[in-house]
Amino acid sequence: MAKVTIATDWLAACAGCHMSLLDIDERLIPLLELVEFTSSPVTDLKHPPASGVIVGILTGAISNTHNIGVARRMRDRCKILVAVGDCAVFGGIVACRNLVGTETALRRAYLETESTVDGIIPDSPELGRPLPVVTGVADCISVDVFIPGCPPRADDLYFAIGELLAGRVPVVLPTQHFRYD
Ligand code: SF4
Repeated sequence: MAKVTIATDWLAACAGCHMSLLDIDERLIPLLELVEFTSSPVTDLKHPPASGVIVGILTGAISNTHNIGVARRMRDRCKILVAVGDCAVFGGIVACRNLVGTETALRRAYLETESTVDGIIPDSPELGRPLPVVTGVADCISVDVFIPGCPPRADDLYFAIGELLAGRVPVVLPTQHFRYD
């Protein structure tokens, strides 16, 4: 039987959600009999293959124009898109920026911190432009499965992947797997 292909990518995120995926630990070994992780931030291949995958996992919020491009590419290249973690589900900690606004946050971070000397706000065509408002992934692309948590526990991710492998979409997370923190 052909393996289910899974690609992961991150937006405005820390590595916590991907670390949680790795925390599936020894259960990854039998899981790898059934799935193939084609690309992720922690593998050599970073971007989902152009030929597409079955499951695309995104962590992190939509914070800048680069994030929009990464999210759209994953949406284009996967059948089932899973938003993993509070940042991807509703903006999470990244969306705290919305409390003060992007300009104020940039000034504070790069010009005004007590340890900053001759600060400069980064401005390069290679960088994504910060958006006025941070959002979850679903404000940018359609999402099929939401798994909240900061990060979601490995058990939550393992359960959701098991449901997808069993062909159950939408995935309904039991309450013990559904939490915001
Ligand atoms: S949800 Fe938490 S662990 Fe996941 S990327 Fe956001 S801050 Fe990191």
